[in-house]
Amino acid sequence: KMNKPVLERIELEASMRTALANNEFILYYQPKVPLFGETRFEFETLMRWVHPEKGMISPGLFIPLAEDSGYIQTLGDWAIEQTCRQIEFWNRKGYKNVTVSTNLSPVQLNYGNPLHTIKQALGNFDIRPEQLEIEITESGLMQNEKHAVALLNEIKSLGVRIALDDFGTGYSSLSQLKKLPVSELKIDKSFVQDVMKEREDASLVKAIINMAHSLGLSVIAEGVEEEAQTHFLQQEGCDYSQGYFYSRPMPENEFQEWLKT
Ligand code: C2E
Ligand code: CA
Ligand code: CA
Repeated sequence: KMNKPVLERIELEASMRTALANNEFILYYQPKVPLFGETRFEFETLMRWVHPEKGMISPGLFIPLAEDSGYIQTLGDWAIEQTCRQIEFWNRKGYKNVTVSTNLSPVQLNYGNPLHTIKQALGNFDIRPEQLEIEITESGLMQNEKHAVALLNEIKSLGVRIALDDFGTGYSSLSQLKKLPVSELKIDKSFVQDVMKEREDASLVKAIINMAHSLGLSVIAEGVEEEAQTHFLQQEGCDYSQGYFYSRPMPENEFQEWLKT
């Protein structure tokens, strides 16, 4: 008597458990482009599920499923390990200045042991801790703030960088921001998308850039699709920019080519 969406969800959840062993999960890479001079290569990993029957499944669909079922712990650990393995690979290829960020689910942050996973990965692979960055969302911090902040402080003390993703959408208070061991704010793409159309969005983006800088943080805009947006961001002093305008997230082989250019 179950309806189709519920059934599909259950099926997907079940097939997720064998997907990792079958190498169906892969990482895509999207560049974070410096707006002022060349500093270092930075990228974000974005997960994809190449399902044998359904084809490519987006993380917007399977990450929430993995979070509900608890499988995100296994999957999230894999993403951290895979990211570090890939950094080591690029280091060996001679691209020693690469920094890669990976998304950490609120569920991992609040109920998992990402510190252990990160320590282990840093020990197993020949990379520098500052080459790894984790992206967390404001909403992820609100469930159990004390625990999350303590954990992030430990992660930071390893030398790993922390970015606050989707910034501006999570209603976090500024007094909370002051306490967080983050080194970068990522302005949510909903503000960036209308920056040339809506005066309010332009004002908010400007305000976030200024606030980030006065707190000594670097700032990046995501979801940049048009040239005019990059000019605006540059004019306002935004440090990094990311979006389809520069490049879509790419699989490893394409990305390898991109690195060479
Ligand atoms: P996010 O971390 O905010 O990632 C940004 C999303 O915007 C990505 O979608 C990216 O492909 C997309 N994007 C990049 N540039 C543009 C642009 O110019 N315009 C537009 N409209 N979109 C752009 P994607 O890859 O589908 O990922 C969706 C979300 O799934 C991510 O949002 C993140 O929350 C989650 N996710 C992805 N990979 C992982 C992962 O390994 N672990 C965890 N926990 N979550 C992940
Ligand atoms: Ca992200
Ligand atoms: Ca984001």
